[in-house]
Formats: sequence, structure tokens, C-alpha cells
Amino acid sequence: MTDGSARVLETIGTPAMQEDILPRLISRDPEIAFTAGQWMTERPGGSDVSQTETVATPVSNVTSPYGPVYNINGFKWFSSATDSDVALALARTGPPNSGSRGLSLFLIPLRRPLIRPTSAPRPSALSNNIKVHRLKNKVGTKILPTAELSLEGAEAYLLGPINQGVKLIAPVLNITRIHSAIGSVGSLRRCLAVATAYSSVRSIAAGKQLLKDTPLHVAELAKVNVLYRALVHLTFGAVALLGKTECGVASEGEEMRLRMLTPAVKAFTSDKASGAMEECMAALGGQGYMEENGFGT
Ligand SMILES: Cc1cc2nc3c(=O)[nH]c(=O)nc-3n(C[C@H](O)[C@H](O)[C@H](O)COP(=O)(O)OP(=O)(O)OC[C@H]3O[C@@H](n4cnc5c(N)ncnc54)[C@H](O)[C@@H]3O)c2cc1C
Repeated sequence: MTDGSARVLETIGTPAMQEDILPRLISRDPEIAFTAGQWMTERPGGSDVSQTETVATPVSNVTSPYGPVYNINGFKWFSSATDSDVALALARTGPPNSGSRGLSLFLIPLRRPLIRPTSAPRPSALSNNIKVHRLKNKVGTKILPTAELSLEGAEAYLLGPINQGVKLIAPVLNITRIHSAIGSVGSLRRCLAVATAYSSVRSIAAGKQLLKDTPLHVAELAKVNVLYRALVHLTFGAVALLGKTECGVASEGEEMRLRMLTPAVKAFTSDKASGAMEECMAALGGQGYMEENGFGT
């Protein structure tokens, strides 16, 4: 989400955002680096944001170098990277019945002031009228906090033209989808490496034969290996198209292919990789189901 947000600021951020915030989103220096969240999902829906209830109201008496200032009020139901520094969020600027065409994109600081001396303490999200109600108790993804939170007059800055929010937030979703596919193939590779290594040391048949010399077992690992290689090609094919598109050298056809492929690559890769990881777990027998393997983290 940080990577995707950086891309949005690079393309439509104000000069002040590009000077103050963008370098922090792409920095590896923990002293200054920022992370970013993406807040779309609300109680009425996540894949369909047309019923978004969060409202943005322009604030006429406050100016900011980051752009037009708005107050945001509403409830975001699934807000990952809750400990981030900024979030890109959708909020309603059109009439209540305007569906997804009445949503604009905003940059919301999670703490104010956003830019502080490195020695200054880190304020809580309450400093920008953001109340974290609870962290969700998710299956998996334990390290990444996901919150239910309310925005109670949070200060935010309009990004890009008004009522174009759904279109403008697309790079965050698409880049995150590609990261998700890469995470899936990376995790599968690790599981496959562990299962392959185990087959060289685990003996069966009264200790007379190693798993690696057992045709049925090798055939199972080979199946996973073939799938892994196919998923790598699929994912990095999308990465190549993304790179060309971001550098402005993709053809119209390549841009269309990227647009069509990105959600499919994410869905297909994560679905197939998780099934294949289960095969790797089973390849270790009972030992495959122990937490200490790190398969489930
Ligand atoms: C771990 C995790 C982290 C998350 N982090 C964030 C975050 O940081 N920011 C954020 O904004 N959201 C986040 N979400 C929420 C996520 O984006 C939504 O849950 C997702 O978009 C689905 O929306 P929904 O929950 O409203 O499900 P629904 O849209 O209600 O979907 C329910 C079911 O209906 C199906 N469905 C929906 N629409 C259609 C359709 N048109 N045709 C056919 N089938 C359909 C879906 O495939 C699904 O099976 C997170 C979710 C998870 C699990």
C-alpha cells in the first residue's frame, strides 16, 4: 500500500506532497520513512464502494500547501497498516445518491503534525481526530494491524480532481495486488525448499529409503515445482508490464493487458499457491503441521 500510495503522489500529488511526503514513502531510512494505508471498505461494502457513508466537507478558512483542506467524518471498517503515517481514503463529496461517482480521494495524516523533528514523540491518531475502535482478529496476517476506526473531523487533503476517487485510487489497489502475488510465490518457494530439503533426510520403509528416492513423493514435489515456476512467470509477466507502464514505454495493448491481468494474477496466484503450500506441508508428514516451521506465518 505504501508503494501504491507513492505512485499516486508521484502522479497526482501537489508539489508540497512530492517534496515532503513522497521521499519518505520511498525511503528505507527508518528515521524518516513513512508507511501508508488505504481506507476504502466500510460496513456497507468493500468490493462495492458505491454506498460509502464517509463524508468530506471542504474547510474554507484553512489553507495547506498539501492542497484543498477537507474535514472527514465516517467509519472505516477494514483499515490495515493502522500504524502507518498517512492513508489514502475515499470519501463522499457528491450527493448521497451519487454512488461511486460521488467519491473523491484524500490524503489523511494519521498524526498531526505530520512532519516532525526526528526527536519529537509520535502523537497518537487522536491528534487528527481518528479513533481506533478495535484491531480486527484476523485469520493470518497477524503482524499487520487492521482496525475499525472512526474519522471524527479528521483533516485531509484532496488528491486530484473531485469525484474521481475510485479511478485515482486504482494504482494503490493494483500495485498491492502485484505485491500480494509476489508474496504468494515467495512463500510457496520457501515451503517447497523446506519440503525438498526434508526429502533428502527423511527415510521411510524401515529406514531403507529416503523420500527423495521415492517416485510417488518426488512426483508430488515435481507437481508443486511446475506450478511454482508457472506462477513465477505469470507474476513477473505482470511485473514487467507494470514496469513498462510506469516508465511510459508500454504499448496500448500492453497497458490493457496489465489492467485485465492484475486482479486475475492476484486471485489465481494466491489461490493456487495456498493449495500448493498445503501439499508441501503434507510432504513433511505430521511435522508439516507444526508452528515452528513457519509455514502458516
Ligand atoms: C486481511 C484483510 C485486510 C484488509 N485490509 C483492508 C484495507 O486496508 N483497506 C480496505 O479498504 N479494505 C481492506 N480489507 C477489506 C477488503 O478490501 C474487503 O473485504 C473486500 O473488498 C471485499 O469486500 P466485502 O468484505 O464488502 O465483501 P463483499 O463485497 O460483500 O463480498 C462478499 C462475497 O460476494 C462476492 N461478490 C461481491 N460482489 C460480487 C459481484 N459483483 N459479483 C459476484 N460476486 C460478488 C465476493 O466475491 C464475496 O465472495 C481487508 C480485508 C482483509 C480480509
